[in-house]
Amino acid sequence: MPAFTSEKELRALQLEGLQWTVAHAYRGSDFYRARFDEAGVSPDDIQGLDDLRRLPFTTAADLASGYPFPLRSVPFERLVRIHASSGTTGKRKILGYTQKDVDDWRDIFARCYEMAGVGPADRVQIAVGYGLWTAGVGFQAGCEAVGAMAVPIGPGNLDLQCELLIDLEVTVLCCTASMALLMAEELGKRGLNDQVKLRSIILGSEVCSQAMRERILDLTGAEHIYDITGMTELYGPGAGIDCREHDGIHYWADYYLLEILDPDTLQPVPEGEMGEMVVTTLRKEGAPLVRYRTRDLTRLIPGRCACGSPLPRHDRLMGRSDDMFIFRAVNIYPGQIADVLSRTSGVSCEYNVVLTREGGKDQMKVLVERDPEADPAADGALAAGIRDRIQKDIMVTPEVQLVDYASLPRSERKSKRVYDQREG
Ligand code: ZN
Repeated sequence: MPAFTSEKELRALQLEGLQWTVAHAYRGSDFYRARFDEAGVSPDDIQGLDDLRRLPFTTAADLASGYPFPLRSVPFERLVRIHASSGTTGKRKILGYTQKDVDDWRDIFARCYEMAGVGPADRVQIAVGYGLWTAGVGFQAGCEAVGAMAVPIGPGNLDLQCELLIDLEVTVLCCTASMALLMAEELGKRGLNDQVKLRSIILGSEVCSQAMRERILDLTGAEHIYDITGMTELYGPGAGIDCREHDGIHYWADYYLLEILDPDTLQPVPEGEMGEMVVTTLRKEGAPLVRYRTRDLTRLIPGRCACGSPLPRHDRLMGRSDDMFIFRAVNIYPGQIADVLSRTSGVSCEYNVVLTREGGKDQMKVLVERDPEADPAADGALAAGIRDRIQKDIMVTPEVQLVDYASLPRSERKSKRVYDQREG
């Protein structure tokens, strides 16, 4: 667990890390040196944590223009590995790791497992992708570091997943939410639920509704579902996880600074309000991040967690700032609608927003999938409840319509959820 017990100790570690990072990037990277010079800031100017605000931002476009070794701040001889993630357009993002980066990533991932109560007695089925994509190898290194037994099966192959889960008496399953649901349902179909020994499920990289969580827990008999966060730019998965209280994601504030900024003005939002996550690494050598705009939206959760951990928390991710749309002069993020749905029982987490213009007035329709177990006779009341909630939380009044489970289009990571059919 972290090497600090108070906020004061944490701030001292953060300042030390920030000063080191800025000096390291300035010395080792032509890109950062040029950027810092342009912004008129030198490593000596970083005297306190507030001086972070003097530093320029880094964006996904900077990663693209630096392809294939963006933000590289060490000689090639010191890089021991690369990982890549799919870029939204064009080339994928590739990030280089030094041996220390690989070790640090293992250590923070081990903390994630510890936070989820995973230890030497556990058997961990790792049903996420291995290879260029960072997930699998991160899950495995962290698992071995806490002394648990890794079952490195990778994604897919439902037959083998079910077989090993039962035969090896697996206690922890790591996968995406849709995979967890698929497996839970498959175990049910085969009448194997009674033989499952799962205690915990660790989910990565997908929004998951409350209904879906309850269904997964119910079918598998597991006690906890944990959400793990992370991205390739920031080592990979393992940047944070919720604790047994499930009241927000604890993030490793001694490894990176998290700013929550208004995506338009790039100024901090008041504590507790939603904004874009901007990340500055404190120890990363190969490709450090300085005020990297993740485009992911969330909010900080004020106060200390009931679990007693001194680690700060942010909320679950609420979508991407690029996905914002404007409806009747209100800025809306699809994640705000997903958030309402995640707190509504009887619906899945799949939805579409359709924007049209009728008689010169903008109209918004929200299509929501009914939960497979829910009774269509209750659609009217359910739709009215969702509409009222959206009205209260987002200050707009859409038409809400329930549709059959699995009737909305599904795609991989980037599902299109907003269809803007307004003209002009
Ligand atoms: Zn906690």
